[in-house]
Amino acid sequence: QGEQGAPRPLAPRRASRKIMVGSVPVGGDAPVSVQSMTTTLTADVNSTLQQIAELTASGCQIVRVAVPSQDDADALPAIARKSPIPVIADIHFQPKYVFAAIDAGCAAVRVNPGNIKRFDDKVGEIARAAGDAGVPIRIGVNAGSLDKRLLEKYGKATPEALVESALWECSLFEEHGFRDIKISVKHNDPVVMIEAYRRLAAACDYPLHLGVTEAGPAFQGTIKSAVAFGALLAEGIGDTIRVSLSAPPVEEVKVGTAILESLGLRQRGLEIVSCPSCGRAQVDVYTLAEEVTAGLKDFPVPLRVAVMGCVVNGPGEAREADLGVASGNGKGQIFVKGEVVKTVPESQIVETLIEEAVRIAEEMGIE
Ligand code: SF4
Repeated sequence: QGEQGAPRPLAPRRASRKIMVGSVPVGGDAPVSVQSMTTTLTADVNSTLQQIAELTASGCQIVRVAVPSQDDADALPAIARKSPIPVIADIHFQPKYVFAAIDAGCAAVRVNPGNIKRFDDKVGEIARAAGDAGVPIRIGVNAGSLDKRLLEKYGKATPEALVESALWECSLFEEHGFRDIKISVKHNDPVVMIEAYRRLAAACDYPLHLGVTEAGPAFQGTIKSAVAFGALLAEGIGDTIRVSLSAPPVEEVKVGTAILESLGLRQRGLEIVSCPSCGRAQVDVYTLAEEVTAGLKDFPVPLRVAVMGCVVNGPGEAREADLGVASGNGKGQIFVKGEVVKTVPESQIVETLIEEAVRIAEEMGIE
């Protein structure tokens, strides 16, 4: 807390170059964007476009597709043309697919330099083709596929090794006058990852794509990503994020969006401020919070809704919210902007909160 009790804001955003991934700006003063990656076979154009549509509907702003084979490369023109959001082609091993992706109209190309054979010979050609097409490149360094030379030098994928790999690959592009670059240095350990990004942020002005790689199943991956992204974003580091989960990619987008909302980097949608319940609770808080969350899911107005289990702390918390309930003696006191507007039987709490939410939306001119 600051001297006057006001919360201390996040550190100023690191000054990074702005690049354009199709229509989405990344870096500079652009809002931090959320991206994900499809899990379909890229060559299966219909399934891939279907998944991209689902991702777009969940708030994904940039989507990446893997291009491991010629069939996948052949599918890129149709996917790039029909996708509602910019498509990044993810290329390992084969520089020829980089050219295919650029020709296909992809918004950007991600290369993993440690993985592309004879890549160094091809950098000039790639820089020229990407530069002519206005297609940025993401240098995507990954702990699991670090350059052998650096593995030998550092013994393992340390933060220094990840950063050296990324900057080395950038320098190869820079030699050809190409600086339309963003960088990621991913590791599965948030501590290593945070340190790598801090070093990278201090060493260059390229926009940074944050990611904890192989973060794990949904619960563990969510925690690791929230902790690592939270630490970096609070320091002003990070221009676009991808949460990696062993779960459907729509879940990645939801988690990424929620991380940005938690830090106030994106307007909060529905926020349920519910108490953890305790021995004083006079209502089943868990069920009530779940029912209110389900009832207001997809609600078009950002609302902070308090769900409190008793009238001891409940009213105080509920007053801070747009809308809230404090329960006691089989009843719920319904608060709107700090005022008790009515008291209803417990069985009517959820429907009353939803009615009041709709009324607030109407007052704001939103149907
Ligand atoms: Fe316990 Fe009441 Fe606080 Fe909920 S609001 S945690 S029931 S004291």
